[in-house]
Amino acid sequence: MQQTLADGVVTLWEDAPGPFSAGLVVGMGASDETFTTSGITHLIEHLVMAQIGRRPINYNANVDIHHSSFVASGDRADVLQFIEDVALHLHAPDTSRIAHEAKVIGIESGTYGPPALAEALRARCGYRGAGLTSAPEPDLGGVSAQAVTELTGRLVRKDGCVLVLTGEPADDVRVPVPDGRPNRADDAPFLSSTTPGAVRGYSEDEVTISFLTPESSEALGMLVTERAFDTLRMRDALSYQIEDHTMALHGHGLTAIGADFAEERAPEVARALRREVQRLVTEPPTEAEVDHVRSQLRHRLEDSTAAFDVMVEEAGRLTRDLPARHHSTRIEAEMAQVQGEEWNRAIAMAQDTMLVHLPLEVWEADDAEQFDDLPFDGRRIQSADEFPTDGEIFLRRRSRLLPRRLAVALTGDTIAMRHGGEMRRAAWSEVVGVAHEGDTRMVVFADGFSFGLRGRDFRRGDKMLAQLDACTADVRFADTDLWLGYFG
Ligand SMILES: [Zn+2]
Repeated sequence: MQQTLADGVVTLWEDAPGPFSAGLVVGMGASDETFTTSGITHLIEHLVMAQIGRRPINYNANVDIHHSSFVASGDRADVLQFIEDVALHLHAPDTSRIAHEAKVIGIESGTYGPPALAEALRARCGYRGAGLTSAPEPDLGGVSAQAVTELTGRLVRKDGCVLVLTGEPADDVRVPVPDGRPNRADDAPFLSSTTPGAVRGYSEDEVTISFLTPESSEALGMLVTERAFDTLRMRDALSYQIEDHTMALHGHGLTAIGADFAEERAPEVARALRREVQRLVTEPPTEAEVDHVRSQLRHRLEDSTAAFDVMVEEAGRLTRDLPARHHSTRIEAEMAQVQGEEWNRAIAMAQDTMLVHLPLEVWEADDAEQFDDLPFDGRRIQSADEFPTDGEIFLRRRSRLLPRRLAVALTGDTIAMRHGGEMRRAAWSEVVGVAHEGDTRMVVFADGFSFGLRGRDFRRGDKMLAQLDACTADVRFADTDLWLGYFG
């Protein structure tokens, strides 16, 4: 793999068998969205591809957590024309099709990234940055043309793009986007959560376990997955599919391992996955296990038919200011993570940061509050006794139908809501979205928590809504499909 510049854009290239292939990778993905605009990078991909129309080549586009990629293979001139046109439309998307493409995306049931990774990101980042990988795209049709051009204007820059080619670039390569560096928002911080711990997962058919390591370590995830496969599938027939995913995040590595489960056996699968992570401490990998991981990595990374896809992966790293690695360097770096001092540091951090993401059926069961000895994520709900006494307090109307002790308190800095014996208070800056529908509002917080309010349920309800709306005007969205509950 060679690295050079073509038309001012960093370019990775390698001769590979098959037709000429090219890809444009742009550092613009789910993590660049906000809760109210979630889905916007997928929308931009659709706007661009709608402009591309039919071509005499094979082509495809994909958006994931950190980047968008547009790839094509076929006749060299046609493929390079595709790249040039993609760049042109990315820089100035046709925003007249927003409503149309939002409808198409509503039919398409795609997600950014694999479900296990989405679970892990949501638990660790909430509805910000990479956590938006699993955001519900609440108002894609309502995304404004201005929001689209603001995002592409900020991120579609020569220094934020990487070109991938299966052949040496010549002066036939054109990437017509503005010069300069992309202007990316800061990474969303990790939510404070108690680890190791158990959290609510959103999947109905997968148990996930996730952990952080000092460096991104695909090899460690592969090792745990191989061991889990031996017990869960080969020995106990509790799972069929077990998959690991690893990504670089905030200067660390995040690994998520997802396993499906036999009916009603999710708790056992969750315990088994946890045991495999714990077992790393007492049973480091054998030589045979290390060799197996190395040969798996070699098969994947050194397969010449996969050379293009592997370069696209490395291009993704480059768009995030991480160096692109030759296969041999990448394999060496991975193997270092499962041996010696690196191994000790990796597994220590993995133990400390482990989260078990329990699927809905376990979470709803009575014993979910305490999954074995793991503290259940209780950071979000506080006792009603802590309800604030300052600020403007709105009490419920007298009605048997309304929850006991329902009240809302609004101060200059915070919003608090009380419901029964529970209370939730947060800074306005933690509110990432407020859905509007008549006198109903749903307030969504950065950590994924939400609650619903109806003006009619409160004395001076109109005043309450007016104050709430004034403090959250910039995160307002329309949702005709409110999923309302008092705490949820
Ligand atoms: Zn799509």
